[in-house]
Amino acid sequence: QAMQIVKMSIDAYKMRDKSKVHIPKYKSEVMAGFSVESCKAALGGTWNPLIDAIKAGSVKGIVAVVGCTTAKTKHDTVSVKLSRELIKRNILVINAGCVSSAIQIEGLMKPEAADQAGEGLKAVCRSLHIPPCLNYGSCVDIGRIGVAVTEIAAALGVDPSALPVAASAPEYLEQKAVADGAFAVAFGLLLHLAPVPPVTGAPLVAKVLTNDVESLTGGKVLVELDPVKAADAIEAHINTKRKALGLPV
Ligand code: SF4
Repeated sequence: QAMQIVKMSIDAYKMRDKSKVHIPKYKSEVMAGFSVESCKAALGGTWNPLIDAIKAGSVKGIVAVVGCTTAKTKHDTVSVKLSRELIKRNILVINAGCVSSAIQIEGLMKPEAADQAGEGLKAVCRSLHIPPCLNYGSCVDIGRIGVAVTEIAAALGVDPSALPVAASAPEYLEQKAVADGAFAVAFGLLLHLAPVPPVTGAPLVAKVLTNDVESLTGGKVLVELDPVKAADAIEAHINTKRKALGLPV
């Protein structure tokens, strides 16, 4: 049956109308393939250089901007705008899933993109020769960001919910994103979501997700469609966490 499917595909390929094929000429270089192990290796084998940068405030925090992209809100635009806003505010961005492709296309995953970051993050990226938006792989790799956060929290001797860290699925679309989002909230992180999730018909569910759950896990959902306002809210959350840890804001 597999052979039959491959043969059907080959036959159908020959019938493609070339006038309808549009391959953009635009190309962008990318530094990809970051993981828990390679991030630590780039930092010299320990999280300490990143932790020191966070303590000093040159990196204010870390946000995982991950998951799907959707044509519902102008494809890629919310993910790219939000990531740009965060790096401008000295917040390191980790991307995984289809969001990552959008960030790559816009050239934010090459070391030269450090020029678009705030002064503190720019200096850290330049010294390590890394981009301000790190590619963490596909959407099935998103959970591995939790491994890095757990290790950083352990190194600081605090719960993950105490860290100046947040997550965002700014163009979520698929059930996998819902599972990842639920994990982020259970893990104790602020989770920015857009578009509006289909829970507004149940005020109790909306209240639990956007408010009450924080007293249980430390995490909660923030719904904001405007990427600049979302960056404002995420930055405010990061500043709150920094203050609670006695770090400069
Ligand atoms: S669930 Fe689908 S659309 Fe969403 S990030 Fe993964 S591959 Fe992309």
